[in-house]
Amino acid sequence: MRDFDVIVAGGGPAGIMAALAAAKVGVKVLIIEQNGFLGGASTAMSTGPVSPFHFRNEQVVKGIPQQFMDALVAAKGSTGHMKTLDPYGSGDSLGFFDREKYKLVAATMLEDAGVRMLFHSFISGVSLNGKTVTGVTVTNKSGLRTYSSSIVIDATGDGDVAVMAGAEYIKGEKDSGLMQPCSAMFEMANVDESKLYRYVLDHPEEFEWKTDAIPLRAFDSRLKKNYFVIQGFKTLVQQAMDSGELRFGRNSLLMLNGVNPHSMHFNSTRITGIDATDAEQLTKGELLGRNQIDSVSEFCIKYMPGFEHSYVSRTSSYLGVRETRHIIGEYILNTEDVVAGRKFSDVVSRGYFPIDIHSYSSPNGYDEGGGSWVTLQDTYDIPYRSLVPRTVDGLVLSGRVISGTSGAHGSYRTQGGIMGIGQASGIAAAMCVLDNEQPRYLEVKKLQKKLISFGASVYRDPEAMEKEEAIARKAVENFLATHKEFITDPTKIQ
Ligand SMILES: Cc1cc2nc3c(=O)[nH]c(=O)nc-3n(C[C@H](O)[C@H](O)[C@H](O)COP(=O)(O)OP(=O)(O)OC[C@H]3O[C@@H](n4cnc5c(N)ncnc54)[C@H](O)[C@@H]3O)c2cc1C
Repeated sequence: MRDFDVIVAGGGPAGIMAALAAAKVGVKVLIIEQNGFLGGASTAMSTGPVSPFHFRNEQVVKGIPQQFMDALVAAKGSTGHMKTLDPYGSGDSLGFFDREKYKLVAATMLEDAGVRMLFHSFISGVSLNGKTVTGVTVTNKSGLRTYSSSIVIDATGDGDVAVMAGAEYIKGEKDSGLMQPCSAMFEMANVDESKLYRYVLDHPEEFEWKTDAIPLRAFDSRLKKNYFVIQGFKTLVQQAMDSGELRFGRNSLLMLNGVNPHSMHFNSTRITGIDATDAEQLTKGELLGRNQIDSVSEFCIKYMPGFEHSYVSRTSSYLGVRETRHIIGEYILNTEDVVAGRKFSDVVSRGYFPIDIHSYSSPNGYDEGGGSWVTLQDTYDIPYRSLVPRTVDGLVLSGRVISGTSGAHGSYRTQGGIMGIGQASGIAAAMCVLDNEQPRYLEVKKLQKKLISFGASVYRDPEAMEKEEAIARKAVENFLATHKEFITDPTKIQ
């Protein structure tokens, strides 16, 4: 007898989707999270809006992830997907959300689905029967406790369970070992967003990229405002860097609206050379991050139009960690697969986001120091084999830790893609329990059928795509008809 059928390790976007999906298939699920709330990077690391569920105008992540977005919109906690007029640097859409609502909506959905939640519990050990994972041990206020299960889903982001079980992995880029830089994220409140927008309108040459984000569907009126993304402020930043006032590892500022009135969110600090699986290095990163936040926010208050009366209203409670380990699975998804939009017969989810690698060694955007922003030729498939560790049984991989190269990870790592993978991992794990089968032997056709019955987008649906195109086209027409001035370069509108 096991305590649970499925244990989900980690309550980030992947873990939430995995737990919901497994419970909806009808098995007994426990989700374990070290924080006192759900959301992972999206709440604890205070990351930006939910990345697109879209490739151009086609929605490629559907099913439970979309139900979650709908619930967030219904709770007055999100704008839902907004189309970016110029996708460079942002992706094709952005779902602005309130992190406090995100935590609550996720917990409510899990509760309603019958998932048991265990917070404030760090997974510090695994139980093994030979090479098969049979449970995990947590360290928490109650001491040490072991929970057993038929299948464990590793959604820890860093692959903690897989590594403790002896799975093979690579860290960062295979040859160099380089991992994407970390960022300490923060938000400022009491910002005069209109004044800031005016500055961008009047100084377009100061920005590397900028876009308006426009609504595709209705959302609560209290969240309504001008949504935009900007990267630049070249002259102001250069002056402050030359005078030694500004220290943040980059040479331009990336910011976008928070969902709450008069708030701006910053993805602007950069901490390079940190291995975030090493607690001492992580501590160093946290300290550097706090200093950079202070430097950037004081700079904004002193020099930036619209920030005169603003203040730092939120900082990440965990340094923003983009990349650590990639567990080796039965298939290693690679950059070529992603860029060419490769399709696989064992597809369980679809990827769509450009390869977004922040520069490892240069303060520049994407053009130096190994950074890249590569748009894809088409959507690509996430093969089921990338969710199955090569040498360990009883374990399904989920979220950013699945089997892929550093380059491929640069695409599937954002939230939309991660949620699609989470959904697939949860259904797979539950089906393994019901079929009494190890993940590597699960019948993929049956899994795909189940995913489709849950509304997941496993294959392109031309009819749905046509409707999505029409909605997006209409939204753009409406925006252009009602806005005399806007910051997006008209030649770049897509
Ligand atoms: C700086 C930064 C900016 C980003 N910006 C965006 C953005 O604007 N839009 C977007 O869509 N995506 C963004 N992302 C990417 C995205 O947020 C993450 O890649 C995504 O959240 C990964 O999901 P995950 O569930 O795989 O892992 P995570 O979100 O990292 O979740 C893992 C969870 O597991 C828990 N955990 C880990 N180890 C243990 C353990 N041993 N025991 C118990 N619990 C554990 C963690 O506390 C966490 O809750 C950004 C990421 C970073 C770092």
